[in-house]
Amino acid sequence: MTHRILIVEDEPSIAELIAINLSHAGYEVEKALQADIALNMMKYQLPNLLILDWMLPGKSGVQFAKELRANDRTKALPILMLTAKSEESDKVLGLDSGADDYVTKPFSPKELVARVRAILRRQTPIEDTGPLKVGPLKLDPSSHRVLAVWPDAESKPIALGPTEFRLLQYFMANPERVHSRASLLDKVWGNEVYIEERTVDVHIKRLRAALAPFACDKFIETVRGSGYRITKIPTEI
Ligand code: CA
Repeated sequence: MTHRILIVEDEPSIAELIAINLSHAGYEVEKALQADIALNMMKYQLPNLLILDWMLPGKSGVQFAKELRANDRTKALPILMLTAKSEESDKVLGLDSGADDYVTKPFSPKELVARVRAILRRQTPIEDTGPLKVGPLKLDPSSHRVLAVWPDAESKPIALGPTEFRLLQYFMANPERVHSRASLLDKVWGNEVYIEERTVDVHIKRLRAALAPFACDKFIETVRGSGYRITKIPTEI
């Protein structure tokens, strides 16, 4: 299957540079100059991945990413953010807005293609684990669904971004064990040399935020100095 990638970037030379490199790597590429044009293009068919520039005329990339994450149809759409800002706080803000990864301008096209490939690889399930259950959480890898099942209550579907889904799947397949950030990067993100360990914390935060409305965030525990785990008996604080 050929993956379709939509580039939202107002600088034509940068958009073209990305498009050429992605086409050479075998991807189908579309371009939009700003967010509302991109939204229009996505009405009929969603791309497999969105490359989104932070600084856009009209709606900013950060704002657009937030809106896409708040919409059921586009909630799980992988987003790679492009940013000219290299400060650490900006990177975290970019990830907080819902991006799955970010690349700082000026970037190497080779690195960008590698990151695109890595995000798309994360879209595929870790391994065929079959349906998983920990506490009230039920995850079905084949249908890509997560449910919160509390006794005497209706089961509720929980929408997760692609990285959070993969992270939760890995936790649930290996419950009650502490996973270090380095081992999570290895197992969930794969062999991506570019990802920093702090990225794990950002995605843990997003996973907890998605689980919180269903009172399930407490099952993801931080183990100080070691990492994270999922447990069916959370330590009450
Ligand atoms: Ca721009």
